Amino acid sequence: MQTHQNYINGAWQPALAGGTREVINPANGQVLARVADSQVEDTKQAIAAAREAFYGHGTWRRMSGPRRAELLFAVADAIKARADELARIDCLDNGKPLREARSDVDDAAACFRYYAGLIGKPQGGIYEVGDGFGPMHAYSLHEPIGVCGLITPWNYPLLMAAGKLAPALAAGNSVVFKPSELTPLSAIALFEIFEQVGLPPGTANLVLGTGPAAGQELAQSHDVDMITFTGSTRTGQTIATAAVGNLKKVGLELGGKSPNIVFADADLEGAVEWAMIGVFFNQGQVCSAGSRLLVERRIADRFVARLAERANAMTIGPGLENPDLGALVSQAQLDKVLGYIETAKAQGARLVCGGSRYTEGDCAKGFFVRPTIFDQCRPDMDIVREEVFGPVVTVQTFDSEAAAIAMANDTIYGLAGGVFTADGARALRVMKELRAGITWINCYNPTFNEAPWGGYKMSGYGRDLGIYGLQEYQQVKQVNINLRPGVVGWYAR
Ligand code: NAD
Repeated sequence: MQTHQNYINGAWQPALAGGTREVINPANGQVLARVADSQVEDTKQAIAAAREAFYGHGTWRRMSGPRRAELLFAVADAIKARADELARIDCLDNGKPLREARSDVDDAAACFRYYAGLIGKPQGGIYEVGDGFGPMHAYSLHEPIGVCGLITPWNYPLLMAAGKLAPALAAGNSVVFKPSELTPLSAIALFEIFEQVGLPPGTANLVLGTGPAAGQELAQSHDVDMITFTGSTRTGQTIATAAVGNLKKVGLELGGKSPNIVFADADLEGAVEWAMIGVFFNQGQVCSAGSRLLVERRIADRFVARLAERANAMTIGPGLENPDLGALVSQAQLDKVLGYIETAKAQGARLVCGGSRYTEGDCAKGFFVRPTIFDQCRPDMDIVREEVFGPVVTVQTFDSEAAAIAMANDTIYGLAGGVFTADGARALRVMKELRAGITWINCYNPTFNEAPWGGYKMSGYGRDLGIYGLQEYQQVKQVNINLRPGVVGWYAR
C-alpha cells in the first residue's frame, strides 16, 4: 500500500518524525492508503519554504501575469485530463456518489480556469485628490498578502482545495495547504499536478495530518500572513484566537443551520425535489444544507408526505455504484448523526422516515444513514438548533410571512437560506430579510465559481469565490505621486 508524503519546497518527503496515518474508505471501513502524519515541525518547514518563495527568491509573485495565468490554466487542463481518476479518489475517501464527485472535479477545473482568467484584469482605481501640498496623483495597487495558510474540511475535498488554492495563487501568494486528514488523497493528486506544470519551489506546499498537530501552527505562526479556514464554527473560533498573535488576516467559512422556506403557492413537486437536493446532496454533509424546512401549515402534511415518499425511494450504497446517497465520511460522523437522531426522538420530534443506520447488502460495514425526516419540531430542540451535517431534515410550520422570517433567522448561524413561492415580490422580500450570506429562490444549493460564498453571524467572515474571493488574498496599497517635485514651502526656511 502506498504511503503518501508531504510536498514541501518542490519535493515529496515523509513527515520529519516518520509517522503515518490511515485513510479509511467509509463505504466499507477498509484502509485505502497511508499518508504522512505531520507534526508542528513539518508545518514549520513548509512555512519556511513558503516564506523563502515569497520574500526570498519571489519567483512566483514576480512572474509576469500572463505566465502565471498560463500555469494556472495548465493546472485546470491537467485536472480535466485526470477527471475520472480524481472523481474516483474523492468518491473513495469521502464516500460521495460518483456523479457528485465528477461534478466537483469539473467545478475544480473551472475554478482554476476562472482565477487564471482574472489575472491581469484591471483592479484598483485612480483617484482625484486634494492639492494642499501641490498637485498630486493617487492610485491603488492590489498586491498578494504573502504567506497564506489554507485549511479545508472533508466534505468537498478537491473542490475546497481548488476554491482556496486557485485564488491564493492567482493573487501571487505562496501557500501552505492542509487538507482534512480524512480525505487528503485528491489534494495529493492536485499537488502532483502543481509539480508537473512547474510551479516554482516553495510556492505551494502540502502538509498532511491532523488539525491540532499540523494545522494549528498555520494559525499561530508569526511567519504566516494570512489564514483561511473552512470547517466547523468551533475550530474557526480556535483559529481566530490563535491568529491574534501577529494579527494575521483571517478568513472563516464555518457551519450553518440554514432555513428552507416553502410557501403554499410554490410548485410543490419542484420544491420537494429541491428540498431533497438541499439536504440529501453529499449525504447532507454540506455547510449550506437546507436542514431546517419551514413549510406553510396548510400544505405541510401534503409536502411532508411527498418528501418522505421520495426520500424512501432513494438508493443507498458505495459511492462508486453511483447511488443517490453514499456513506458518511467516518465512524465519528456516523456516531454524531445517529446521536442527534436519538436526541431528536427523545426530545419529542416525530420521526417521519429514516432515522437509522443502513446496513443492507454490501453496506454492512460502511457508515450509511437512511435519509431522515423529523416533523413536529420545536425551536428549542437540539436537532433544530445544532448543525447535524448528515441526511437529516427538520420540519416546522408557519402561518404568515413574518413568522417564517422570524423562524428562519432564529439561529446563531447565517450561512444560507432558500425560499419557494410563486409570488416574485414575496420571494424578494423574504430573501432580503434573511440574515444569511447565500440565498436561493425556487432552488436550493447550486453554487458557482463566479459568485461570492460566505456567511453572516457565526457562519464566519470573508468570502470565497468570485472576485471577492480573489480580493481576500490581496492587500491594497495606496500610491501617491507628487506631480511637481521640489520644495513645497510648508515650513519657514
Ligand atoms: P473541522 O473544523 O473539524 O475541521 C476542518 C479542518 O480544520 C480539518 O482540516 C482539520 O484537520 C482542521 N483543524 C481541526 N482542528 C484544528 C486546529 N485546532 N487548528 C487548525 N486546524 C484544525 O470541520 P470538519 O468536520 O472537517 O468539517 C465540517 C464542518 O465544516 C461543518 O461545520 C461545516 O459546516 C463546515 N463547512 C463550512 C463550509 C463553508 O463554506 N462555510 C464549507 C464546508 C464545510
